[in-house]
Amino acid sequence: MSAVLEVRNLVKEYPGLTAVAGISFSVDEGSCFGMLGPNGAGKTTAMEIMEGIRSASSGEILYRGKPIGADFRNEAGMQFQSTALQDHLTVRESLQLFRGFYKHGADLDELIETCSLEQLLNRDNRKLSGGQRQRLLLAIALVNDPKILFLDEPTTGLDPQARRNFWDLIEKIKQRRTTVLLTTHYMDEAYILCDTIAIMDHGKFIAHGSPESLLKEHFSDVIIELPREDFRVPPASLPWTIHEKIDSVEISVASVSEALAKLLELGVGIDRIRIRPRNLEDLFLELTGTELRA
Ligand code: ATP
Repeated sequence: MSAVLEVRNLVKEYPGLTAVAGISFSVDEGSCFGMLGPNGAGKTTAMEIMEGIRSASSGEILYRGKPIGADFRNEAGMQFQSTALQDHLTVRESLQLFRGFYKHGADLDELIETCSLEQLLNRDNRKLSGGQRQRLLLAIALVNDPKILFLDEPTTGLDPQARRNFWDLIEKIKQRRTTVLLTTHYMDEAYILCDTIAIMDHGKFIAHGSPESLLKEHFSDVIIELPREDFRVPPASLPWTIHEKIDSVEISVASVSEALAKLLELGVGIDRIRIRPRNLEDLFLELTGTELRA
């Protein structure tokens, strides 16, 4: 695979604040790269510099080996964190308007199908739900049939079902070998969609790699969860790391079978037990010592 985008030592300083503190990475053609992290981590700033709409204080960005230029502008699609849509236009008119900006681009009927907009074509932009609006914004980002697509927090504010539907759309776009860069607060979203992720905090990457490789690198245990009321053993008497939450207790164990045997021996009821692998939320907690500040 070849790198479509290369970012070298990118820095963005604001007076009294370093928003992006020297990040470097490359994105392979046809892959999905996700930057995730809490509010204020520097994701949008980094994204907007890559998109060419904000200047860097220092660093270099190469698209297909060259500084950002006309090629990039023709081949990039962007869905910003907030986009104002023209009032009094329907979904169909909005798509036609944006499609008109490009000589070459996507077939509108195909785009309407990809983004599931068939039932909404005559609806005024102002009357769209959050999920419907995001689908329209994605379609607008795709009007020039981009080879590289930037999505800045595309599912923030959507309900769980709408987020899942949006993920299906992104999967369809990935199948066309479009390179995708996205930012998100949602670790599950990054895990599902991204081939490579960077966890960003205070302007820096604190982890960078494939979700699976990062989890393997940092963890060799499994988590057992029990409702708090089922766990009546003093944690100090147990050989595991125990994380007490409001309603539940999480126990980190190397061997599930040995842990279950021990819990039964101690008389702990295991009927409501849940066993889960480590996830990116755990990784974030491990790396920063704090829960994700959404
Ligand atoms: P969120 O998840 O909330 O969108 P983010 O990770 O995208 O956050 P950025 O929007 O990149 O974070 O902001 C990074 C930091 O830079 C924040 O502290 C923000 O307040 C600051 N910042 C962003 N834009 C400006 C600006 N134009 N002038 C000064 N500071 C800014």
